[in-house]
Amino acid sequence: MDIEKIRADFPILSRKVNGHPLVYLDNAATSQTPKVVIDAIVEYYESYNANIHRGVHSLSQEATDAYEEARETLRAHFNAAKKEEIIFTSGTTHGINLVASGFASVLTAKDEVIVSALEHHSNIVPWQMLCEKTGATLKVIPMTESGELDLEAYEELLSENTKLVFVNHVSNALGTVNNIEKIITKAHQKGAAVLIDGAQAAPHIKADVQALDVDFYVVSGHKMCGPTGVGVLYGKEDWLNKLPPYQGGGEMIDQVTFEKTTYAGLPHKFEAGTPNICGGIAFGKAIDYLNEIGFDHIAAYEHELLTYATEQLLALGDLKIYGTSSEKTAVISFNFEGIHPYDIGTIIDKLGIAVRTGHHCAQPIMDFYKIPGTVRASFSFYNTKEEIDAFVQAVKRAKIMLS
Ligand code: PMP
Repeated sequence: MDIEKIRADFPILSRKVNGHPLVYLDNAATSQTPKVVIDAIVEYYESYNANIHRGVHSLSQEATDAYEEARETLRAHFNAAKKEEIIFTSGTTHGINLVASGFASVLTAKDEVIVSALEHHSNIVPWQMLCEKTGATLKVIPMTESGELDLEAYEELLSENTKLVFVNHVSNALGTVNNIEKIITKAHQKGAAVLIDGAQAAPHIKADVQALDVDFYVVSGHKMCGPTGVGVLYGKEDWLNKLPPYQGGGEMIDQVTFEKTTYAGLPHKFEAGTPNICGGIAFGKAIDYLNEIGFDHIAAYEHELLTYATEQLLALGDLKIYGTSSEKTAVISFNFEGIHPYDIGTIIDKLGIAVRTGHHCAQPIMDFYKIPGTVRASFSFYNTKEEIDAFVQAVKRAKIMLS
């Protein structure tokens, strides 16, 4: 991989923050945007901005074609069997809420659903709301000290009453890559469906939804070099046909009368209202961009960065890293004894370094470790070892100041 060439694709990477070159290590929160994606956004608004699917005029047709081409790009990327199984959403949160809302018509009070201890709040709260509505019971796969899921405990939680399991592919707070192959197989043996939150995995690992045999897989465009406000829900056709629509409105109907409305087929049944047309098109361009670099190259390089950064940070001493699984994406969550993560984050920001501090929308993980939060550095394929050196030196300075 030619990192300098790749970095030149990202205009933001050449800016300064607080007088220092930007070192952007908050990629798990959102990724940066390459010029090809920015250009696609500009081109859409400059030359073919129009509403899609129902216009007879040329602009509308051009926009529809580009949007549907992006859907095909996403289908191919995740290897879905059909384009109809790719639903555009506003992001992972929207995708999960859509499925959770649909399952209100599937679950009864005797049913059980299973979540994991490693989830982002967006893969917890919609299901709690669903359980309140239906009376179904929420069970939790416990985590271990190393930040991995206890899959033996998972097998014990599964029962004939389990209807749905929802787990992330990669933990945003710790970087752990969960063994979703096993989670899916064991759930299916009990007849339960599985939703995988792929928000943190999708920028690093190319998931094949057919090989995984997963029922639902959700991602956000903005974590994959795409814009904010767009994402994708993959759902097996049978499930998407079975679930009721999430929102009512234009685009999702077949016939409307005051007596009765019939719904459009897939994917439109779940795409009420004018979608984020430009966002969908730009998301497709981002996927093309990532595939041109290649996910194998991305994973290998990011692993190198992770190993290097882990060694450099540990050399500072007195530091605890949370999430020590051997199966990790490029995320390091850490604290120094007696120093609040927020203070580290604030000081290193003055040196141009962007990391995330806090609970990372995963309060149950912080409760497990009995900490208020962590400093989280998350790397992308456009980061360099020199940036890691600058980050480690900045952390060292902050530690001295705060000790
Ligand atoms: N799940 C995980 C694992 C995440 O990291 C995130 C984003 N931090 C989400 C869900 C929610 O994604 P979004 O805010 O894009 O809907």
